[in-house]
Amino acid sequence: MRIRIIQAFLLVATGLVAQQTHRDGYKDTPILPNQQWHVHDPDRPYPPDVTPGATPGEPPGDAIVLFDGKDLSQWTQRGRGVDRGKMLDAKWKVTGGYMEIVHGTGDLISRQKFGNCQLHVEWQEPEGIQGESQERGNSGVYIMSRYEIQVLDNYHSATYADGMAGAIYGQWPPLVNPSRKPGEWQTYDVVFEGPKFDGDKVVSPAYETLFFNGVLVQNHRALNGPTEYKVVLPYKRHDPEEPLMLQDHSSSRPVKYRNIWIRKLAE
Ligand code: MG
Repeated sequence: MRIRIIQAFLLVATGLVAQQTHRDGYKDTPILPNQQWHVHDPDRPYPPDVTPGATPGEPPGDAIVLFDGKDLSQWTQRGRGVDRGKMLDAKWKVTGGYMEIVHGTGDLISRQKFGNCQLHVEWQEPEGIQGESQERGNSGVYIMSRYEIQVLDNYHSATYADGMAGAIYGQWPPLVNPSRKPGEWQTYDVVFEGPKFDGDKVVSPAYETLFFNGVLVQNHRALNGPTEYKVVLPYKRHDPEEPLMLQDHSSSRPVKYRNIWIRKLAE
């Protein structure tokens, strides 16, 4: 009984200390420019706790895990032929804690939709060199199903700059090329802000920041519009949230993916 009382006392005391910590601050300080809060305002909403991943690259507690190496339940694919118009269970191969493109089955499309987000994707190019330029392990991470971050083997392999791994395809080359060898896992960490529309008119472009193997390669880049090959396309109005897509680029050997997670971000 005594132990329970002590435990209860400790809980209350801990809560009071935590509350006191949050309430610490000042009201006799200036209002911050373009904000409603005083400097060190004690009433300012406190950021929620988030449990970080156990090791770098693992999903934090508030992430939506889109692929944990086990199954493709978070993904779908467009039907072809007699199944045209249907959304079918994903057919890419899952083995050994990763998934691998099955060429000809089509792009992988997330069942959930996302707009502004933080995204983590790991991918691997096939070992052994085969093909050149855009034919060497081509895939892509299409945010909102429209805006491609190129996936390609660019380890000692050249192509046009705005089509390299880490490029916003057809628009912005990566700042540097931190590609690893084929057969080694590589990471993309993206911060994406979706475009804003007023009716059919775009009033703010999409912005993208990308770390490729931990190296900054896109620094808050404004996108021209959706991704396309050899042309410039204007923005076309779409919903504030759209599916994520992984590209089946059938003209090169299959790329592997693992550990895909995403966090929705407020504006
Ligand atoms: Mg591609």
